[in-house]
Amino acid sequence: VWTNGTHQDVVFSYIGICMVIMGIMGVPPNNFMLLCFSLALLFIVLKESHNMAYRDQLTGTSSRRAMEVQASGLSKRFAVVMCDVDHFKKFNDTYGHDTGDDVLRLVAKKLACVGGGGLTYRYGGEEFVVLSNGDIDLSMHIAEKIRLAVSNTTFNNKTIKISIGLTALRNSDTPLSVIERADNALLTAKKQGRDQVYVSNV
Ligand code: GH3
Ligand code: MG
Ligand code: MG
Repeated sequence: VWTNGTHQDVVFSYIGICMVIMGIMGVPPNNFMLLCFSLALLFIVLKESHNMAYRDQLTGTSSRRAMEVQASGLSKRFAVVMCDVDHFKKFNDTYGHDTGDDVLRLVAKKLACVGGGGLTYRYGGEEFVVLSNGDIDLSMHIAEKIRLAVSNTTFNNKTIKISIGLTALRNSDTPLSVIERADNALLTAKKQGRDQVYVSNV
C-alpha cells in the first residue's frame, strides 16, 4: 500500500495537519508522533479495505458488492443492464490470460464512456452491470448504445461482441429479484444468438 504511492500524499498532508493542531495544543512531541502515525496507519488500512470491497482491482470499476449496496438503496425507478462478453474464453485461449484481462479493461472503459448510463459495476468474470436511472425506453436506448460501442471495438483485429439482458424495477421486486430477472434476460439474449439486447417482460 505504501510503496505503490497511492496514499502517500494524503498521509503526509494528514500528518502535517495533525502536527499543526497538536503543536498548537502543546502535546509532547513523542506522544504526538506516535498518535499521528497510528492514525495515519488506521486511515490507510480503512481506505484500502474499502477499496478492496467496493472497487474491482482489475478494471477499476465499482465491484459487485458496491452494486448490491447501491441497488438496495435505490428507492425510485431504475433498470438493470446486465452485460456479458460473447465467447470471451476464446480471447484467453487464443492470446492468453493477460490479453483477456486487457479485453476486460477495454470493455469496462467502453461501458463507462456510454453517455446517459448509470454507474458501471463488474459483476464477475466477463460480466458487467450498469444501473440505469432512466425508464425502460431510455434504458433500452442505453443498452443498445453499449452494445454498439463494444461491437465497434476491435482487439488484435478481432471484434468484441456483447450480449445484454435488461429489465426495469417493479413494485414487487427486491434488489435480488430484479438482478435475477436481468440475468435470465441475458441468458435469453445468449440463446437467441448473442450480440443483442433482450428485454425481460416476465
Ligand atoms: P458466452 O458467450 O456464453 O458468455 O461464452 P464465454 O466464453 O464468454 O463464457 P464462459 O463462461 O465460457 O467463459 C468465461 C471465461 O472468463 C472463463 C474464465 O476463465 C474467464 N475469466 C473470468 N474472470 C477473468 C479474469 O478476470 N480475467 C481473464 N483473463 N479471464 C477471466
Ligand atoms: Mg459469463
Ligand atoms: Mg461471456
